[in-house]
Amino acid sequence: MIEKLVIANRGEIALRIQRACRELGIKTVAVHSEADRDLKHVRLADESVCIGPAASADSYLQTPSIISAAEITDAVAIHPGYGFLSENADFAERVEESGFIFVGPKPETIRLMGDKITAIEAMKAAGVPCVPGSGGPLTEDKRETLELAQQIGYPVIIKASGGGGGRGMRVVHSEAALLNAIALTRAEAGATFGNDIVYMEKYLQNPRHVEFQVMADSYGNAIYLGERDCSMQRRHQKVVEEAPAPGITEAQRQQIGERCAEACRQIGYRGAGTFEFLYENGEFYFIEMNTRVQVEHPVTEMITGVDIVKEQLLIAAGERLSYKQSDIGIRGHAIECRINAEDATTFIPSPGAISRLHLPGGPGIRVDTHIYTGYRVPPYYDSMIGKLIAHGENRNAAIARMRTALSEMVIEGIKTNIPLHQEIMKDQNFMTGGANIHYLEKKLGL
Ligand code: ADP
Repeated sequence: MIEKLVIANRGEIALRIQRACRELGIKTVAVHSEADRDLKHVRLADESVCIGPAASADSYLQTPSIISAAEITDAVAIHPGYGFLSENADFAERVEESGFIFVGPKPETIRLMGDKITAIEAMKAAGVPCVPGSGGPLTEDKRETLELAQQIGYPVIIKASGGGGGRGMRVVHSEAALLNAIALTRAEAGATFGNDIVYMEKYLQNPRHVEFQVMADSYGNAIYLGERDCSMQRRHQKVVEEAPAPGITEAQRQQIGERCAEACRQIGYRGAGTFEFLYENGEFYFIEMNTRVQVEHPVTEMITGVDIVKEQLLIAAGERLSYKQSDIGIRGHAIECRINAEDATTFIPSPGAISRLHLPGGPGIRVDTHIYTGYRVPPYYDSMIGKLIAHGENRNAAIARMRTALSEMVIEGIKTNIPLHQEIMKDQNFMTGGANIHYLEKKLGL
């Protein structure tokens, strides 16, 4: 087993990783910025190392500082969590070259899946359904490009192969605008991502976001843990997630899940991963793979009983998957609300000290959060301060539990988006299930 591990992250996910480590008897090293000395996992860690000032660029994104922290504490592994350096192939490579275990896939797999065109090629080879499109880079041949768009049918979307975080994309509604849009996206992509390769896809107008969780070990075994629906979004940020996705049949789950597991086997995937799809008119279209643990992993844990983070650590330690596909069943329904320190109507961040805190509880309720009374939410990072998860025997039961839990949750001293979640939990279309990715913004009048 891994003896000691560096948690290269902060907030709720750092605490989540620490909990899994403690269950497995792994000692933890918390690396933190100067602004994060009071984080709960830092206080609970076996050791902690301050790696720089508040700004992420000077601390959580500093590869040399993180590796030095691992060296001076005699740690053997590094868990990157999500965000920060978690999908940075160069970081993973430096970690491995320095002799540490990177809790995640091989660096070359991160690189393969981080480039959208090579990712799509790999998915097609495994029979994963993709969005109709160019499949490869757009050439300089204008006639060919115009014909391609004609075949795909407008609207189309031009995407940068090296893009990410919702940037480097442009929707085109007519032939007249196509070539100009390609030139603009190319120029922006070159300047932002240092890679001006762009490709074209059909633009799906009202899709849902449905994603599949997978786990794979280093011995060629791969399984899927069902899917999640994350269509409740604002500015491409997920607000509420649930599992299973409403209306997805067992046959669809098996078909797409098995394709994803097969893709893992083909690319030699290792660890936890997520295949993101757009889902429209009964069809799945792969858009990208996330090669790390997701914020919303708890909803899958609640319905499958698999501890995804523990499994990540076991796989990193060189063990085989603890489960076969036939061991994985789905029990009931789970919903997650992301609790943010922000105004519920203006979405303006609301950092500051938490003067009073009451967390909800009872059957089927889980709270993943690092906050405590007296904790000061710093202004420097993402505004998410925790996740409230409700599990029930079916979707309605999970919603009922979530409503009760939200009504019990008291966070004073800062503003939170709890009122927004209360609004969503009584929304008629949310209650029906299956709303598309534009629904929440429309409802909010954005
Ligand atoms: P990023 O890596 O920047 O997050 P994605 O490929 O995951 O890029 O796309 C981000 C979002 O853009 C998707 O969640 C979806 O809302 C929208 N999008 C991407 N491709 C398409 C498409 N072909 N049709 C419609 N919307 C799309």
